[in-house]
Amino acid sequence: MSEIRTILGFLESRCEKYIHNSNKNNQEIFELMVETILSQRTRDENSSKAADLLFSVARTPKQISELPVKKLQGLIRISGPYRQKTKRIKQASKIILDKYKGKVPSKREELMEIPGIGYKTADIILMYGFNIPSIAVDTHVNTVSKRIGLADRKDDVEEVKEKLEKMFPMNKWYLINLGYVMFGKEVCKPIKPLCIKSAKNCPFSGFCKAYKTKSFEV
Ligand code: SF4
Repeated sequence: MSEIRTILGFLESRCEKYIHNSNKNNQEIFELMVETILSQRTRDENSSKAADLLFSVARTPKQISELPVKKLQGLIRISGPYRQKTKRIKQASKIILDKYKGKVPSKREELMEIPGIGYKTADIILMYGFNIPSIAVDTHVNTVSKRIGLADRKDDVEEVKEKLEKMFPMNKWYLINLGYVMFGKEVCKPIKPLCIKSAKNCPFSGFCKAYKTKSFEV
């Protein structure tokens, strides 16, 4: 499919330099997990600040499990629904400590049994933590896929994920989340995609369904 080739070519040209397949150690994967929970329903800059504050005090599953609730709440307050996130991070740390002897599991089913870890967080941990091919469908991946016409507007995120997994070769899955998030922030913006000003602003305007129909709502 020539559209898929065009999309992959664009993503490769934009993302290759950001990809590093270095193997992360368990501590780094655990921190990635905590950061991803903190990033839920908040802006990137807020979750980064919360993660920095938290990791300046506690970093390991044991340290975070032992942190008093009020203290943890105070450290991550900036990350939006901090009470709920405190509960989830505490529970997740405890489960990793007790059930998995401090090691973050690398199976999607096991990850998704941990409080605070849904499909998207699990896929992010698999892809960026363990280098296991996976497509994390966040708001940008969802919007861009539906606008271009790779998924139907009525599809839920699992359906979007399944369709993307069938369309793109597995050895390129690592490009999708990273590439679409960048593309969604810079070009296919949630409110005003840049193609509204000019088709030349987007390399996909020649085949994008939303552009053709001038219907950008997802
Ligand atoms: S043409 Fe517009 S709506 Fe379609 S992918 Fe590009 S920016 Fe998004």
